[in-house]
Amino acid sequence: MSTNLQTPIDYLKGVGPNRADLLRSELGIHTFQDLINLFPNRYLDRTKYYKINSLQRNSAEVQIIGKVIGFKEVTQKRGKRLVGTFEDDTGRMELVWFRGQKWLRDTIKLNTPYVIFGKVNWFNGVFSMPHPDIELQSEHEQNLRSSMQAIYPSTEKLSNKGITNRIMTKIMQNLFLETKGRFEETLSEDLISELKLLYKNEALFNIHFPKNQDLLARSEFRLKFEELFYIQLQLILKNLIHKSKIKGFPFESVGNYFNTFYKDHLPFDLTNAQKRVIKEIRHDLGSNAQMNRLLQGDVGSGKTIVAFMSMLMALDNGFQACLMAPTEILSVQHYNGLNELSNKLNISISILTGSSTTSERRKIHESLENGELQILIGTHALLEDKVKFKNLGLAIIDEQHRFGVAQRSKLWKKNTSPPHILVMTATPIPRTLAMSVYGDLDISIIDELPPGRQAIKTVHRFDKNRLKVLRFIRDEIEKGRQVYIVYPLIQESEKLDYKDLMDGYESIVRDFPLPKYQISIVHGKMKPADKEYEMQRFVKNETQIMVATTVIEVGVNVPNASVMIIESAERFGLSQLHQLRGRVGRGAEQSYCILMSGHKLSQDSKVRLETMTKTSDGFEIAEVDLRLRGPGDIMGTQQSGILNLKIANIIKDKDILQSSRFYAKRILNNDPSLKLPENKTILHTYRQLSKYKNIWNYIS
Ligand code: ADP
Ligand code: MG
Repeated sequence: MSTNLQTPIDYLKGVGPNRADLLRSELGIHTFQDLINLFPNRYLDRTKYYKINSLQRNSAEVQIIGKVIGFKEVTQKRGKRLVGTFEDDTGRMELVWFRGQKWLRDTIKLNTPYVIFGKVNWFNGVFSMPHPDIELQSEHEQNLRSSMQAIYPSTEKLSNKGITNRIMTKIMQNLFLETKGRFEETLSEDLISELKLLYKNEALFNIHFPKNQDLLARSEFRLKFEELFYIQLQLILKNLIHKSKIKGFPFESVGNYFNTFYKDHLPFDLTNAQKRVIKEIRHDLGSNAQMNRLLQGDVGSGKTIVAFMSMLMALDNGFQACLMAPTEILSVQHYNGLNELSNKLNISISILTGSSTTSERRKIHESLENGELQILIGTHALLEDKVKFKNLGLAIIDEQHRFGVAQRSKLWKKNTSPPHILVMTATPIPRTLAMSVYGDLDISIIDELPPGRQAIKTVHRFDKNRLKVLRFIRDEIEKGRQVYIVYPLIQESEKLDYKDLMDGYESIVRDFPLPKYQISIVHGKMKPADKEYEMQRFVKNETQIMVATTVIEVGVNVPNASVMIIESAERFGLSQLHQLRGRVGRGAEQSYCILMSGHKLSQDSKVRLETMTKTSDGFEIAEVDLRLRGPGDIMGTQQSGILNLKIANIIKDKDILQSSRFYAKRILNNDPSLKLPENKTILHTYRQLSKYKNIWNYIS
């Protein structure tokens, strides 16, 4: 029987049942296929030799030619060790063994050239190498197969059980011998020649046994491209299928509401980015397919007006629209803003939140069902079963990251046919990540702020400089400005955080005493009505200072507030800091953000604070965030598929990602069902990948 790549790993020469079990449990290697896809972590350049006098204290692995000139045994409490003195024409060092001492002493020839290889330590003025790879120079020269030596991922258990890198390499060699290195091609001839890619065979061989640097680089490129290409293909196909299967309501005309608003009531000129995004949405809404679009735009980039104008398109076609926000405060604010605009157009609009009274609810339910109510704004309360629309045509979700996918689909079920969905987020997801995990959503980006915004001056101050900061706050209040002071609130230590907040509040009250100063406080333990009352006092400029936990993170708009103080800033994540800073800089005055922290900072905290003082570009900040936290933390487990990449790295390989997406799109544009003969290989591979989900589990 000939072997194929689905053959269990037990059948490979050199593996056997014990090693097979270990490979399965430690590295998830079940089949030949899995083993071939165990890509090296790194490579050692074994073309290079070091001299003893040029060794560095923190050298990685080095290779040296020299002779063993003598042995000695050293006995210590922890046991005996064998020490060999090793010499080249520049100096001496020690080789140290704790195991196999007798055998080594008998085998190693004195005063004969050897090649040793390993990590060096430096101790008491002497370099030493514990358990070196040691080989007679004459044999070494014959053995050399590949100058770049692959280092495979390993685990403690594997090395304890003797599955060293040398053994892994040996097993890999057996795999190539057994399969004769013949692996099915997985990309089309067209792609290979257009992109000058290596063939699969060559790439796999050189990724494991690189003949030289150049071939290694090309192998990596080819395999990364392939990996990302099939993810993109999958995502784009999903999107295409969605569009052809799920019919939306076509909003055929742009009508009276939209046009009147655009002509007579637009409060400002739209930025080019806003115009572009509105066109993209208009295009979706006018087509036969259901829109599923993500609208990304930094804080303050003007997403609300885009949302409103999209709703007008729904209304113009006789449909209702809703806008859901994550907090009560934010819903109220949206409602206040949009109510004003709606009144000018005689549009009926309402708000529904947890604190709506029974009679308000009854009225809303009724007018929603008979179609009198055109726009409904609110919180999660919109998802309640009693909320039934007559004909919901467009659902907009603000601050997407607060709602799970399940909730999104709940909104969707409120109709016979799903409404168009627009998800808005101010937490920019780096383009690269968005592309790979949200490849099945369409994405619009507002990448331009309205004109005339002044950059927010951001500084980092240590707690011991608090007095200066207090003086600064006083000066700003003197000028008529308002100030936010924000404390962290992290779920696990809620009690402690709450205490910090209250302590902080008390000391601020002492520093800014009544009646000259008025202070608001808002935190998560307050009743919504009390929160709202305190917020309103601040909005109306009755209070000069707002002390708060991160509940103010999203959305609130108080243009007169020009100072944001963030306490224990080192405890906040980058995107949170960025969101908080976005609360100021909304008016004409110069605004400031002061990041307070203790003196001791972790490396990551330092990077976060530095990034904040250096840039205000949300996308740049998101990229740093992604680098610090990794995609898993940012996207949550739901989208973790992207984490199972075997060779590509979503951050480092974003150019390859972009190019793979381009080609996947182009191919599917010409041949959506991959029926053309030139795409036969792609279709075949795609099917294979879907079939062996356990292997290619990044295909969800
Ligand atoms: P976000 O994208 O954070 O939701 P908003 O929609 O709240 O931003 O807009 C922030 C502020 O900018 C609002 O006061 C809004 O009226 C104003 N704004 C939005 N677009 C423009 C524009 N094109 N020109 C001037 N101001 C604008
Ligand atoms: Mg907003």
